[in-house]
Amino acid sequence: MLADRVGVRGYVRNLGGGEVEIFVEGEGADAFVEALRRERPRAIVLEELLVEEAQPRGYKTFEILKSEERSSAPSNIPPDLAICDDCLAEVLHGDERRRFYPFNSCSFCGPRFAVMHKLPYDRENTSWSKYPMCDKCREEYSNPRIGGVRRFFYQGISCRHDGPKIRLLRIDGREIAVEDPIVEAARLIDTGHIVAVKGVGGYHIFADAQRDDVVAELRRRKKRPNQPFAVMALDLDVAKALVELDEKAAELLTSPQRPIVLLPKREDSPVSPLVSPGLDKEGVFLLYTALQYLLLSHTRGKFAIATSGNVHGEPMCTELSCVFSRLGKVVDYVLDHDLEIVHRVDDSVVRFTRGAPVFLRRSRGYAPAWIRIPRGLKKPAVAFGADLQTAGGVAFEDKAVLTQYIGDLDSFDALQGLDRELRWFIEAYKLKDFVLICDLNPAYNSTKLCRSWKEELGAEMYTVQHHHAHALSAAADAGLNEPFVAIAIDGVGYGTDGMAWGGEVLFVEGARFVRERHLTYVPMPGGDLAALRPSRMAATYFHVALGKIPDGLAEALPGGVAELAIVERELKNPRIYTSSAGRFLDAVAVALGIAQERTYEGEPAIKLEAAARGGRLLSLDAEDQVELFTEIVERIGSAPTRDLAYTAQYKLGSILGRWACEVAERRGTKAVAVSGGAAVNDIIMSAVAEEVEGCGFVLKQQRRAPPGDGGIALGQIYYAASME
Ligand SMILES: [Zn+2]
Ligand SMILES: [Zn+2]
Repeated sequence: MLADRVGVRGYVRNLGGGEVEIFVEGEGADAFVEALRRERPRAIVLEELLVEEAQPRGYKTFEILKSEERSSAPSNIPPDLAICDDCLAEVLHGDERRRFYPFNSCSFCGPRFAVMHKLPYDRENTSWSKYPMCDKCREEYSNPRIGGVRRFFYQGISCRHDGPKIRLLRIDGREIAVEDPIVEAARLIDTGHIVAVKGVGGYHIFADAQRDDVVAELRRRKKRPNQPFAVMALDLDVAKALVELDEKAAELLTSPQRPIVLLPKREDSPVSPLVSPGLDKEGVFLLYTALQYLLLSHTRGKFAIATSGNVHGEPMCTELSCVFSRLGKVVDYVLDHDLEIVHRVDDSVVRFTRGAPVFLRRSRGYAPAWIRIPRGLKKPAVAFGADLQTAGGVAFEDKAVLTQYIGDLDSFDALQGLDRELRWFIEAYKLKDFVLICDLNPAYNSTKLCRSWKEELGAEMYTVQHHHAHALSAAADAGLNEPFVAIAIDGVGYGTDGMAWGGEVLFVEGARFVRERHLTYVPMPGGDLAALRPSRMAATYFHVALGKIPDGLAEALPGGVAELAIVERELKNPRIYTSSAGRFLDAVAVALGIAQERTYEGEPAIKLEAAARGGRLLSLDAEDQVELFTEIVERIGSAPTRDLAYTAQYKLGSILGRWACEVAERRGTKAVAVSGGAAVNDIIMSAVAEEVEGCGFVLKQQRRAPPGDGGIALGQIYYAASME
């Protein structure tokens, strides 16, 4: 122990939730404080270290004291962390109580938020309350000399004798009597069966990732034709055989947060190409529970598909009844246990953009730890986020607490989930007299929910334009507390003129903004339908840029020639216009033959980025995205597709970056912030960085919250903090 090593005496005491009080005396006191700053287990985040001088009290030893019912500040709710190395070692070689025990965890690892009914984080307030400790666990729990730092006063303490139980079921509910359900589940996966496995924050669907027929069957059953599945690997060595990974990627993969990380596929990867069709990256993560370790270690390949146990568009199942009712036609077996999941917590997803990690989804391992924002709130705030792949949030003082990933709010269950989680956080942090913040779009379900809260509670309600919120999210993320220029590279957000914005350059002064420049408006035939059917946007761009729509495009539309006729009619008399960067990328992806349909959000743009791998920049002189489209399609056939794909994205970034420079110079600001769903695209972001940094401005890219709609709530919260 550190205290013994540096020679100090005193005590450490948990003050509840996130706060710890340490009293030390002796020669080594300064060295102790210094060491605290530098070294600690990877799971511990040191938010603040307050050091006060005190008189020696004559301690003879260093003690771990029981926690007290006293807390000076609201505490950070701990996220769920992956099994630590010490616990894994016990599972492999420990004594009889913890060897092969699927729920092994300690003070530094294991489920937290997912099993928490309410604060404070005490056993009786968690799912562990229904498992009375055995005598040995009780000794470890109550005596620091026996339990050590890992088990003394650890609220989730358990062992084989008192912890949750595992069982294997057929999907019709019949239990399979086997000696080891985990070994049998691994055998079933190896023989091509699809198995639901209860995890920390929900059920995963496990399946063999190597067999094309199994992956194809899973896609058919899940009605998910193209969207990539994540692959869970036993350890770093197994992951190395699937994807290219450097030190930064390895660190992220092995971090206590264990996100899914998108990494370049290896040419010789044994993973079926059907796992992530048309993409150059694989979503890979390492196991994070003892149960997952035991399961994967018994599979042949030591890796498997581990995708969310949901049906298309719905939230993941957290209860066995949901698995039976919703996944009855998807999975064959269920590896179940009886530790209750209180909060649905999906896996987090991270990718690398310009060499550093960016969130596509901030959830397990990260949420609901708060994010400090650069300006304090006068009143607490509740933020409702956006509508797709969204998260909400609550905030007080200078702390923004984003919820875990909620999902798509066109699902009623997801909408209910948002409502429930927001109420839970309000209760947990005892928030009163709060303001409500939501998107400007009146058609959003999150906006409707916000409005119903306003009626129910009589609270003040404010709406924020979507890209203003994106901009403020990036600013809060970067600690920016001064006027700035923002670039939004996005799908679609409701604009103040009622049009569909999404390629914007804004000048932002806190709660006010000026729309300085935007991508050229083009019609958006059918409104939202044009986002779902990218070929409609291709038709639009051909019409606007070249005055003629190629005949072949009718084949790419689900409605064929008839649908094209509808589109053409609307192009003559458009009802809605868009400046969306995402819709431009859709059009290019279709024009280049890279994607025809959109079966998951962002599919054409994601495939366009993948198709540009190894591409070169062609010299074009387009001033806006319509000219860019013209120049790209004029070169189809004469330039390689990957060069055209690369150039379309790079030039889009250059155009927006150059506009941002002009505005920043005119406005006399130093910083340019970038956000939006497509602001994770490596090619676009590299071009933006080149332009903006080339003009001498500082580029702020989002790193702590997702640049996509999962980060909107953070921007809404920063808006509340910026109101006069
Ligand atoms: Zn542990
Ligand atoms: Zn026990």
